[in-house]
Amino acid sequence: MEEIKLMDEEGRRIDGRRPDELRPIKMKVGVLTRADGSAYLQWGKNKVLAAVYGPREVFPKHLQDPERALLRARYNMASFSVEERKRPGPDRRSIELSKVISEALRAAVFVEQFPKTSIDVFIEILQADAGTRIAGLVAASAALADAGIPMKDLVTGMTVGKVEDTLILDLCKEEDNYGQADLPIAIIPRTGEIVLLQMDGHMTQEEIDRALDMAIRGAMKVYEIQKRALLERYERLVREKEYIADISEV
Ligand code: ADP
Repeated sequence: MEEIKLMDEEGRRIDGRRPDELRPIKMKVGVLTRADGSAYLQWGKNKVLAAVYGPREVFPKHLQDPERALLRARYNMASFSVEERKRPGPDRRSIELSKVISEALRAAVFVEQFPKTSIDVFIEILQADAGTRIAGLVAASAALADAGIPMKDLVTGMTVGKVEDTLILDLCKEEDNYGQADLPIAIIPRTGEIVLLQMDGHMTQEEIDRALDMAIRGAMKVYEIQKRALLERYERLVREKEYIADISEV
C-alpha cells in the first residue's frame, strides 16, 4: 500500500486539524417543500440531503405492522458523490448502512404511536468524504423532527479513529482509508443510549474507552448544531407567518 503521512511532527493532521478538532459543519432544516420533513447537511466535504415522508399508508400493504409504524431508512450514494463514478443502485454497503441507520432511528422514534403506518426516510449522499453514515443519520434525525414525528430526542453521532497511534476525531477520507481504525457511534443524548456502534481496524480496550469518550464529547457539539438548525427553521416559519399576518391586515 502507498505510504501516506497522516500526521506531521507537530501533531497536525493531513488537513491541518488537531486530533480532537471537527470539520466545519453547516446544517439547514426544511429545505424540500414536498417532503414532510427535510434537512441538508455539509460536514467537511460531505454533502447530505435527508427527506422524511409519513406517517403514511404502508406500501406494500402486507408489511403493515398493527402495533407500530414501520420505519424505513434508505441510504443512497449518488454516482457523482465519489471520485470514481459509483455504480448507481443499492450494493452490499448501502444495504448495510440503510439497516443500521433504520435501527438507530427506530430506537428514538415513538413508533408505537403510529400503528399500521410507515415513516420513510431517504438519505442521499451527494458528496462523500468519510463519515457519511453518521452524517446521514444526523441529517435524518433532524428531518424527522422537522416532520413533527415524536421522538425521545434527536439522534446524534460522531466517528473517532486512530492514525499513527493517535486517536483522532471526525476522520476525513484519507484518514478513513489509510488509518489504523475507525469507530462510528450514534447516541440519543437525553437517554444516553448508544444506537449505533461499529468498528473497523484495531484498538486496545484502553483506546476504545478513550475513543468513546472523545466521540461522545464530539457528538454533543453536533447535537447543538442540529438543535440550532431546527430552531432557525421555526424562527423562519414564525417570520413568514408574521409577514402573512401583516399583509392580511393591510
Ligand atoms: P462512511 O462514509 O460512513 O465513513 P465507509 O467507511 O464505508 O463509510 O466509507 C468511507 C468513505 O469511502 C466514504 O465516505 C466515501 O468517501 C468512500 N467510499 C465509500 N464507498 C465508496 C465507493 N463505492 N466508491 C468510492 N468511494 C467510496
